[in-house]
Amino acid sequence: MAVVYKVEEPVAVAPRALPPAQWLKRTDNGPVAKAIFSVAVLGPLVAVVAAIVQLWQRAVVGADLALLVGMYFFVAMGVTIGYHRYLTHRGFRAPAWLKLGLLILGSMSMEGPALTWASTHLEHHARSDREGDPHSPLQGFFHAHIGWIVDGFDANPAKYGPWLREDRLVMFATRTFWLWVVVSLALPFAVDGWRGVLWGGVVRIFLVHHVTWSVNSVCHVFGKRPFKTGDRSTNNWLVGLLGGGEGWHNNHHAFQRSAYHGLFWWQFDLSGLIIRTLEALHVISDVQRVEPALIKKRLGENGA
Ligand SMILES: [Zn+2]
Ligand SMILES: [Zn+2]
Repeated sequence: MAVVYKVEEPVAVAPRALPPAQWLKRTDNGPVAKAIFSVAVLGPLVAVVAAIVQLWQRAVVGADLALLVGMYFFVAMGVTIGYHRYLTHRGFRAPAWLKLGLLILGSMSMEGPALTWASTHLEHHARSDREGDPHSPLQGFFHAHIGWIVDGFDANPAKYGPWLREDRLVMFATRTFWLWVVVSLALPFAVDGWRGVLWGGVVRIFLVHHVTWSVNSVCHVFGKRPFKTGDRSTNNWLVGLLGGGEGWHNNHHAFQRSAYHGLFWWQFDLSGLIIRTLEALHVISDVQRVEPALIKKRLGENGA
């Protein structure tokens, strides 16, 4: 049965402190940095499409593209539906087989094991654009996009998401993380040899990484903020399109448990559509959605 929740229910309580003054004084989150950053993030995506067009029927054939698109779809859904909306935010209830399947697909993204991914993300919601946010662009765009990983951020599941450590399936997926990464490279190898590894493995990992990281960086800088959320989260249609609906990130910060990030018909949310289908097929239950009156009220708070 669908659950409509009336009261905002953040997983962790956000502190009301302001971002540290030294963050706001940084020069690497000004307009020039924004422009350079946009090219650096969008450029490689455009280059991959250009490479496919240039190499078509010479070094890239239909099987490679099918592997890329197919693997991208399943692994990205593992991240958005599995890691994010299901595991981190408890947007719906799922049977054990589906839960394990989603966590395995999420692991294949090579974005870290289920435990650390969810815990890091809970910390982000608890401290969004405040001191302690793992990846706020107020600390520089490069930092928000990938620098925080290069710097070796350590998740703290004892504080953020201690219940995850009690969950046997989560711990199983976490312990076997590298196995699934290897499987995600072995599958395309079995279909199309090393070319399969290139397109269904390496290029796919690169694309899923950048789109996910863009939610952390682009979707706290570029786009609209229809809801007052006390942070810099934005709705960005391009990341929404590429990232299976995750680009409606201001909506998500406003209603964290909602299984749907697209809140209006024109906000395309592929993950939300799949969740809706799974619910209609009675595979999942307790799907969290927001009452339209609450959406209206929250928009009114922002004068929208
Ligand atoms: Zn979230
Ligand atoms: Zn965010």
